[in-house]
Amino acid sequence: MPATTGTGVRVLSNYIGGAWVRSSSTERLAVTNPATGEVLAHVPLSTKAELDEAANAARAAFGTWRKRSVIERTRWLYDIRHAFTERLDDIARSITLEMGKTYPDAQAEVARTIENIEGACGVPTMMQGKILEGVATGVDTETIRQAVGVIGCIVPFNFPAMVPFWFLPYAIACGNTFVLKPSEQVPMTQALMWEIMHDVGGLPAGVLNLVNGSVEVVNGILDNPEIDAVSFVGSAKTAKYVYQRGAANGKRVQALGGAKNHMIVMPDALMAKTADNIIGSGFGAAGQRCMAGSVIVTVGDAKAALFAELIPKTEKLIVGNGIEQGVNVGPVVSCAARDRIVGMIEKGIADGATAIVDGRGAGSDPATAFVGPTILDNVTPDMECAQEEIFGPVLSVIQAGSLEQAIEIVNGCRYGNGTSIFTESGAAVRAYRENVQVGMIGVNVGVAAPVGFFPFTGWKDSFFGDLHAQAGDAIDFYTRKKTVTTRWFSGGPVGKFFTEQGDTH
Ligand code: NAD
Repeated sequence: MPATTGTGVRVLSNYIGGAWVRSSSTERLAVTNPATGEVLAHVPLSTKAELDEAANAARAAFGTWRKRSVIERTRWLYDIRHAFTERLDDIARSITLEMGKTYPDAQAEVARTIENIEGACGVPTMMQGKILEGVATGVDTETIRQAVGVIGCIVPFNFPAMVPFWFLPYAIACGNTFVLKPSEQVPMTQALMWEIMHDVGGLPAGVLNLVNGSVEVVNGILDNPEIDAVSFVGSAKTAKYVYQRGAANGKRVQALGGAKNHMIVMPDALMAKTADNIIGSGFGAAGQRCMAGSVIVTVGDAKAALFAELIPKTEKLIVGNGIEQGVNVGPVVSCAARDRIVGMIEKGIADGATAIVDGRGAGSDPATAFVGPTILDNVTPDMECAQEEIFGPVLSVIQAGSLEQAIEIVNGCRYGNGTSIFTESGAAVRAYRENVQVGMIGVNVGVAAPVGFFPFTGWKDSFFGDLHAQAGDAIDFYTRKKTVTTRWFSGGPVGKFFTEQGDTH
C-alpha cells in the first residue's frame, strides 16, 4: 500500500537496495497537474543520509553485478523493453498528467525511451575491447573495458520518462550500478517505471536505486565518495555547477545543459512544410524541449513567405489539457514557469519586439499553467529573448541579410545544443554545417534530436564534459579502459618487451 497524506494524496517512496522505502524526511513538495491544478502526489525531499544509504547499496551490489555475464546484463534490457512496451499508454498518461505535454507527444517520448533501451542492447558488441597481437615477438597487448562503478544520475522535468533512460540502460548493461534522482517536479513517471522494473525483477538488490529529492540529494551525489560518475541533464547553470563540483571531487561527469536553438529559413525553403516543422519544434511540448526551436532567423526575403504560412497556422493551434484529444499545445510545467515565461515575453516587448501572436492570457484559471503560442517579431540579437532560454512556447524572429550573417547570429549565442536550416540548397547546408558552432543540426528537420543510436552532442554552454549521452559515447563514459600486455615463457621465443634488441627476458 502506498503511503498517503492525511488527505489521501499518495506520498512517493524511495527505492533502495531492491525495496520501496519511505523517506524519513518531513519536507515534501506537491506534484501538481499543470492543466488542472490538481495535486497528484507528494514527493519527499530526502536527506543526504538517505542518498548515502542508496550509494552504499549500489556499491555493495556492484561487486556482484559487474561479474554477471554481459549477456545476462543485457538480456534484462529485453525484459524491461517488453514490459515498458506493454505499459506504454500508462507511462504516457503519467507524463501528461504531471508534466502537461499532449498525450500523443508523451507516447512518442515513451517510444524514444524504448529506443534507448534497444540501443543499449548492443552493449555486448559495443563494449568489446581491442587486441594487437605481436607488439613484440610473442607479446600481445589488449585493452579491455570494465564498468566504472556506481553512477549517480540527476534529471530535469521536461522528459519524465526518457531522460533517465538515456543513461540507465547503458550504465546497467556495462556492469555499473545506479542511483537516480528524478526531477522533484515530475517524480511520478519514474515511480511507475521503477515499479514496472521491480515487477520484472532479475536484478540483484542494490543495482538500481531511486532517491527523491532536490538540492540536498544532488549535493549528496556530488560529494559521496562511493559514487564514481555523474550523468546530469538540466539547465546550464545547474549543469556547470554539477560539472565543477563533481569534477572537484574526482568524479567523471557528463552534464547536459540548457539551449537556445535557432532555425534558419532561407528564401528557397519550401514554406508550408517549413512552417509545419517550426510549429512542431517551437510549440510542441509547449516549447519545453532542449531541442525546441526558439529563434527563427529569416534570411533575405524569406520572412514574408514564411509568415504567410506560419502565422495563420499558429493562430489555429488549440491550447488545452494535453490529455484531451485534439489539443495541440498543453500547459507549461507549473504556474511558476508560466509567470517566468510571461515575464520574458513582456521583457521582449519592452526591449522593442512586437508580439505578432500573443499567448499571454491563455487559460483563465490562475491555478493552471497555460501560455499560448507566441511569436515575437523585430527581435535583435542583443535582446534577452534572443539570447536566453525561455523554455516556453515562444518564438523570437530575427532578420538576417545573408547566410553568413545568420551564422554569426547563431554563433553569438552562448548555447550550442541544436539548430535547423530550412532550404533546398546543398551549398547553403554545407556552409552552415561547416561553420555553425552547434552540436546537433537538422536539415529541413525542426527537432534535430538524434535517434538513440547516435550521441547527443550539444556544444558550448549546452554541455559540460567530454563524453555525451547515447550510443558509443555512453559506452565510453560508463566504462574504464584497462590495458594488458602479455607474454608466455613456455610458448616459444619471446621478445624483450618494448624492443627486439638484446636478450629475451
Ligand atoms: P534544473 O536545472 O532546474 O533541474 C535539473 C535537476 O537539477 C533537477 O533534478 C533539480 O532537482 C536539480 N537542481 C536544480 N537546481 C539545483 C541546484 N541549485 N543545485 C543542485 N541541483 C539542482 O532544470 P529543469 O528546469 O528541471 O529542466 C529544464 C532544463 O533542462 C532546460 O534548461 C533544458 O534546456 C534542459 N535540458 C537539457 C537537455 C539536453 O540534452 N541538453 C535535455 C533536457 C532538458
